Amino acid sequence: MSGGIAKCGIWGTIGVGLTPIHWGEYHAFAMDTSRRDLLKMAAALLVDQWAGPRAHAFGIDSLGSRLVDDRKAIVIACGGVRWAETFQETGFANIPNLYRELLPQGTFFTSIHNAGVTSHYNTTSSILTGEWQHIDDWGKSPPQNPTIFELFRKTLNASRQSTWFISSNKALTKEIGASSVREFGPKYGANVIFPKQLIINAVARAAVQGRAKSSADRNSMRSELEAMLNADNYDGMGWSVSDNSDTLDDSSRQTVVQAIGDLVRTNAPVTGDEFTFLVSMEVIRRFSPSLLVITFSDVEVAHFGSYSLHLAGIRTFDRLVHEFWQGVQGEPAYRDRTTLFVLPEFGRDFDGSNTNGFFNHRVNNESTRKTWMMCLGAAAKPGEIIERPVQHVDICPTIANLFDFKLTGLEGKPLPEIRL
Ligand SMILES: [Zn+2]
Repeated sequence: MSGGIAKCGIWGTIGVGLTPIHWGEYHAFAMDTSRRDLLKMAAALLVDQWAGPRAHAFGIDSLGSRLVDDRKAIVIACGGVRWAETFQETGFANIPNLYRELLPQGTFFTSIHNAGVTSHYNTTSSILTGEWQHIDDWGKSPPQNPTIFELFRKTLNASRQSTWFISSNKALTKEIGASSVREFGPKYGANVIFPKQLIINAVARAAVQGRAKSSADRNSMRSELEAMLNADNYDGMGWSVSDNSDTLDDSSRQTVVQAIGDLVRTNAPVTGDEFTFLVSMEVIRRFSPSLLVITFSDVEVAHFGSYSLHLAGIRTFDRLVHEFWQGVQGEPAYRDRTTLFVLPEFGRDFDGSNTNGFFNHRVNNESTRKTWMMCLGAAAKPGEIIERPVQHVDICPTIANLFDFKLTGLEGKPLPEIRL
């Protein structure tokens, strides 16, 4: 199916309380198209909201505006998933797209090892920097080595719009886009966007400002909002509602607020990852970043102990990665020149561990540390299986190689199998 996401007829989502329906050959979970359209509109407006004022502020950048190159690299990481629920026979049913459609197209690494701290912030920071990061788990401080965003932008004199970090995971913070290293830092950082936080902000504002028609509506919106907050509090983190939704012009804001209010009031079965996906596609269409990192986190509902919701999160991830890759191929700026890395941040604890098995990801064990990675597109080779052990920190120098600059002295080493 080509032509991007707008033409796709099967807008499934796997959410709470949905009934599976049979659709020709597909067993899909349906989300009606109007709701998806509404989400897409919200995604477009939120990207506007985010990027518009910054484009002015940076003048499409004080640091050069065009990249000489048209190569693209994208990393998609999900939280923790184990082999047993994914690329083992017991897990194939959860990943029909990754296993049947995408695996034959790419290079598959069967042994990627997370030797660092198996928390979200440390792991994502390690992927971005090529060095194992041992900073606090909750993102209070920026990475201690330059991120690939900074290295890329400084080396290639690239604009801020060329590097984006988009995440469903609120255990990460805006600090993740740039390191504390003096020669680098925010001046060379990525655009960092947390789509779901923007939704929450907008809903919170709508509630606070009394946009709902009656107090009953307002109360119901508040309770929906609280439910959303609580349901997503996977890692014991609350949302910190910031004020960065203040920049929309009035009419756009009204539209977004109404759209999101409707969405929340009707208890839409929309996951955080779904919205992150839509915002990512919007960023791709609008800014064509050279380097994009996306982290999904629906699978992290496992922290609440629901195995079935964890599996649903894996299926959502599987579906969105496939849809994303199709969407990317439909964009002329990306077709045939994009390399995509898909991987979990880590596994999860083994059944029978004293940490409640799949609930968590903190046991020093292969079940938690060893996982897989798939590379697709320009620098990958169809059907290639690599069994030698590699590490999460290898991704950063590998991306540098794809853009013809070398990073030496890092703990991570470039993967010779992934090259243009
Ligand atoms: Zn987690």
